[in-house]
Amino acid sequence: MSLLVVGSIALDTVETPFGSVVDALGGSATYFSLAAGLFGEVRLVGVVGEDFPEDYRRILAGRGIDTAGLVTRPGRTFRWTGAYKGAMNEAETLAVELNVFGDFNPDLPEEYRDSGFVFLANGLPSVQKAVLRQVPDARLVVCDTMNYYIENALDDLRDLLTEVDALVLNDQEARMLTGVDSLVRAGRIILTMGPTFVVIKKGEHGALLVARDGVAALPAYPTGEVKDPTGAGDSFAGGMMGSIAASGDFSFEGIKRAMGYGTAVASLTVEGFGTEALRAASRQDVEGRVRQLREMLRF
Ligand code: AMP
Repeated sequence: MSLLVVGSIALDTVETPFGSVVDALGGSATYFSLAAGLFGEVRLVGVVGEDFPEDYRRILAGRGIDTAGLVTRPGRTFRWTGAYKGAMNEAETLAVELNVFGDFNPDLPEEYRDSGFVFLANGLPSVQKAVLRQVPDARLVVCDTMNYYIENALDDLRDLLTEVDALVLNDQEARMLTGVDSLVRAGRIILTMGPTFVVIKKGEHGALLVARDGVAALPAYPTGEVKDPTGAGDSFAGGMMGSIAASGDFSFEGIKRAMGYGTAVASLTVEGFGTEALRAASRQDVEGRVRQLREMLRF
């Protein structure tokens, strides 16, 4: 069934102990779409400036992503500069330039308005909400957020949380949003804010599902090849939502299975710089890692 994503499309400048890139194709909606595109059709809603390279458009189209909702505005594309150190568990944001993304007011193409599955990837909560208004038939709306919006747009974010089915965020963000250290407790507090389930990503330590009907924990796929963690969270979400949209199953068991797919896709993403490894990954690669995860967890 149709899957729609709105979020940032970025030019990323990133440094890790293994190398660096300048103005690479990035952004929350980019990683999400490239990941979800492994499972089926993805409708992308986003904005870029006039400086956005033609090659990058071709990369998105190359995965079969529907870019009818990708608009170009006068000005510069959103830019993010970040660095990872040591165990590379968390990005240090060195600079954010919202540029054309700062006053993006999405107006969905008519043919996107019947989308059944919606992912509001990292972006201004007000933009996420503006999209929500335009997808009245959505069966499942999942949103992401990050420290930047918890710090700068908390009221809008809390308002958004009353209208979505689920929230995906990382461990630090869950602690920041709730003020508690225990992630299970943080997840339960978030459930009182509106969502029916919460997925808390813990980097190399896997992901935690806290839902009204139970709690589940999944380890990360044990890759020893982490070069650049950028986009791990968004490709986890893309794999998870792509799998849910393909099966139509978002029961507790369905979400757990989908998290296995998200885990496998994220592990492929981090093995290369920027979108390089994710772009090279095939559905078979993902299925292979899901099988290994299942095998690993059988005891
Ligand atoms: P992650 O999956 O969490 O590693 O997300 C990485 C992506 O998030 C990068 O490609 C960035 O371009 C994008 N990003 C960073 N900061 C922001 C922000 N404030 N709003 C939206 N997207 C962002």
